[in-house]
Amino acid sequence: MLRYAGVIGYPLQRSLSPAFQQAALDHLRLEIVYEVWPTPAEGLETRVTTLRSPTVLGANVTIPHKETVIPMLDEIDALAGRVGAVNTIVNDGRKLRGHNTDVAGFMRALREDGGFEPEGKRVVVAGAGGAARAVVAGLLEARTAAVSVINRTLSRANRLVEDLRASAEGSELRALPEMYASWAAVMGSCDLLVNCTSAGSAGVEEESPVPVDLIRSTMLVYDLVYHPAETALMAAARKRGARVLGGLPMLVYQGAASFEMWTGQKAPLEVMFEAARGALQAAAAKGAS
Ligand code: NDP
Repeated sequence: MLRYAGVIGYPLQRSLSPAFQQAALDHLRLEIVYEVWPTPAEGLETRVTTLRSPTVLGANVTIPHKETVIPMLDEIDALAGRVGAVNTIVNDGRKLRGHNTDVAGFMRALREDGGFEPEGKRVVVAGAGGAARAVVAGLLEARTAAVSVINRTLSRANRLVEDLRASAEGSELRALPEMYASWAAVMGSCDLLVNCTSAGSAGVEEESPVPVDLIRSTMLVYDLVYHPAETALMAAARKRGARVLGGLPMLVYQGAASFEMWTGQKAPLEVMFEAARGALQAAAAKGAS
């Protein structure tokens, strides 16, 4: 029986998940098709209902539904509950269960590709959306010394901090308004800067969301944006002598964790990386955003 998984989001033109998920499924000769399910907000409830079909293994969830999908599911795991965002749905045959693999994807890329151990370190997070929630939850679990969240909309950063305060245990956690003085106050002692805003993405706003004159050579600058592969922030950080990590490894690791939940098989990471890089290059060549 042919089975299905897919990605739910809107508008979804930029998703690389179909390319690397399908490559992994084909590599393992699984009879599963990974589809693109563009879903505007008003269609989300109906879309989620279709996941209950016995032929559907589950779905990835991306912008803008990671938070709003939660009440439509039967269960969410403790981590997704703490983060307040679901990026993976599993249909176990009886229930739709929500998980968050962004946290594991972010932490794995940070440690394995960034060579960075966050325990005891001071971190600045730009942005306060679903990705920032996953990042902050992971950093707090790893016993980071301090996390400062700076977002254009301060109320959203305040909400993130309130929601995750209970997981902070000994870490400083605070929200700051998006203004030069805030950046200047925290960047001097920062070991790791993480961009969790969409600024820098092709077709969104290609400027750096962070004042680049404050970047120091001792920092790791980690941009979750993966398209383009080198953002304005990354290029500026490199120029200032900082180490740099882009969003592609996290994207592949979070997708690999979803793949393993749906199929019960070990994800072929090399195959996924190669397909993701190929899809990214094709998108860049087309000038697609
Ligand atoms: P959300 O829509 O939930 O949040 C977007 C965030 O970006 C908000 O903090 C928003 O600020 C901020 N923002 C948007 N435009 C600008 C701008 N022009 N200047 C400054 N801030 C801006 O999205 P997500 O949190 O889900 O995703 C954020 C980014 O992370 C996206 O680029 C996404 O592709 C990437 N991502 C990468 C992953 C990976 O695996 N590499 C995984 C998940 C996400 P405000 O609140 O003020 O609107």
